[in-house]
Amino acid sequence: MADIIQLLPDNVANQIAAGEVVQRPASVVKELLENAVDAGATEIKLLIKDAGKTLIQVIDNGIGMSTTDARLSFERHATSKIKKAEDLFNLHTKGFRGEALASIAAVAHVELKTKQAEKELGTHIRIEGSLIQYQGVISTPTGTSIAVKNLFFNIPARRNFLKSNTVENRHIMDEFYRVALVHPTISFMFYNNDSEVINLKESNLRKRIVAILGGKTNEKLVPIEEETDIMKVEGFVTKPEFAKKKRGEQYFFVNNRFIKSSYLHHAIVNAYEGLLAADQHPSYFLYITVPPETIDINIHPTKTEIKFENEQLLYAMLRSTVKHSLGQYNVAPVLDFDRDATMDIPYHYKDKKNIQAPKIQVDPSFNPFETEKSFRQGEKKETSPKWESLYVSVDDDAINIKDIDVEAQLVTKELFDESTTEIVRKTYQVHQKYILSVIKSGVVFINQNLAHQRILYEDLLTKMTLEDTVSQQLLFPIEMIFTNSDILLCKEIQSDLESAGFQFSSISKDTIILSGLPVHVNPSELQYIFEELFETVRRGIPESSFSQLDIIAKSLAKSMAIRNGVKLNSAEQEEILEQLFLCKEPNQSPFGKKTFITLTSEEIQLKFDH
Ligand code: ADP
Ligand code: MG
Repeated sequence: MADIIQLLPDNVANQIAAGEVVQRPASVVKELLENAVDAGATEIKLLIKDAGKTLIQVIDNGIGMSTTDARLSFERHATSKIKKAEDLFNLHTKGFRGEALASIAAVAHVELKTKQAEKELGTHIRIEGSLIQYQGVISTPTGTSIAVKNLFFNIPARRNFLKSNTVENRHIMDEFYRVALVHPTISFMFYNNDSEVINLKESNLRKRIVAILGGKTNEKLVPIEEETDIMKVEGFVTKPEFAKKKRGEQYFFVNNRFIKSSYLHHAIVNAYEGLLAADQHPSYFLYITVPPETIDINIHPTKTEIKFENEQLLYAMLRSTVKHSLGQYNVAPVLDFDRDATMDIPYHYKDKKNIQAPKIQVDPSFNPFETEKSFRQGEKKETSPKWESLYVSVDDDAINIKDIDVEAQLVTKELFDESTTEIVRKTYQVHQKYILSVIKSGVVFINQNLAHQRILYEDLLTKMTLEDTVSQQLLFPIEMIFTNSDILLCKEIQSDLESAGFQFSSISKDTIILSGLPVHVNPSELQYIFEELFETVRRGIPESSFSQLDIIAKSLAKSMAIRNGVKLNSAEQEEILEQLFLCKEPNQSPFGKKTFITLTSEEIQLKFDH
């Protein structure tokens, strides 16, 4: 039989490699930025169009490439960074596999312009799907510019698989920050569709973090510093009282490379023990340096996971260092006034009971009904008497199921059978969580939080699509600080938020100023509502949601809904009951959870029979 094994042509091999390296526009951003850093640039510009689907360009002022190197850089396993196998274990630069440019060029149109400082002219190369289209000389500044256009032009399946611009932009921002956070002395500029997203001047680590997170970050940071024979940790964690409801900015860098590690994350969370409520998350920026030969960073193609030789030691050290620093931060004010020598021994803080409890910002007794007598909305008010009559059946000819919305009918019909005799209408609140009510067939338990989510969700959706927005005007505008990426996102969804009833008086670099809110929004919960919103929109809730508008309505409904644990008077309880069954889909929350359960008289009787 003839030989059947063939070597794959280079362009096919490159495309296969590209599948690992280039997963989405953000992966290209990461590779190009890292190359620019490795090239010794002091100034790096990132330009994006259409969430990277149309253009990703990185311009640096680094060492540039010779003509031969420029040509070679697109070959697979072409790298200036390793020469022999041992080098793999001793890397201090970012890239090391010489695969990035070859992979990118296999799946996009790439234009390279590069010049070394001592040369008059530079090299210009255009390459499409691994094939060189043009090579020539060009007058260009010292450094390198690589423009990647039409990513995945030759792999339509991949291209179609890309997420919405919002989601892809988010990934790009993430990669950008990860690089910018490790290189505070390099200046980074980021333009999205020709407008400036962020301009990070050359600075130090603390200022870089503040520049990225914006506003009052500086006062929230607690410095971390520890060095032993085998490792060094520096960076910042946030003070417990600034912990977030959502997992916020949590960064580990190992030897200047961003990594994910749930194990090390656990060490940090552990260090906050007793300082945070269960649903609060600290932010951290931790830079760990270990001898390169004690880690293996190559176990994952996108290189965000890592294996440590001394994992447990690192865990213990991180935990105690962070704990110690948090403790010092807590005793620091005492030290200033009262120089008690024993307090100078840092670990003593453990035994002292002066660690402040975190300030929880949620007001558990907040009751949206107090600001407004009723949350009954215009059109719904008109229909409610029909519902009421259906329920109470005091008035014999008041039952009129046909007048209820079709979807609502399905449920209400089952529940409130019209043929039975009179019942007394009454609701009870059980454990400040359920609204109990007697219905014809038995009893119903309504989860007040989930039911209110459903009510708000349908109401918001109607408002957002019908354009008859009602806002409560604020006497004093409310100012909130956000990260750049949150601001960017806010601008993208601004019009949807306005139709929900938010009024923006300005959205600037890191500050959102609101002059009006939807009715029922508690101003003290705004920060939480927005954090939750940005997080949800970013995650993009796949499948279950149809549109961004829908996602926004869901998220707002969830964070605005009356909480469990809030006491409701009987008018409020009835209001929930009534509004819920006027909804189109009363039986589930916007996130698909049951809003109520019923127990029939037979079921109750059965319990007595057994
Ligand atoms: P790696 O970074 O793993 O070496 P890449 O495919 O990313 O592999 O890059 C290949 C080579 O191209 C690099 O080793 C470097 O010599 C050169 N190169 C890439 N980008 C730049 C740049 N911005 N400036 C100078 N040289 C670069
Ligand atoms: Mg590289």
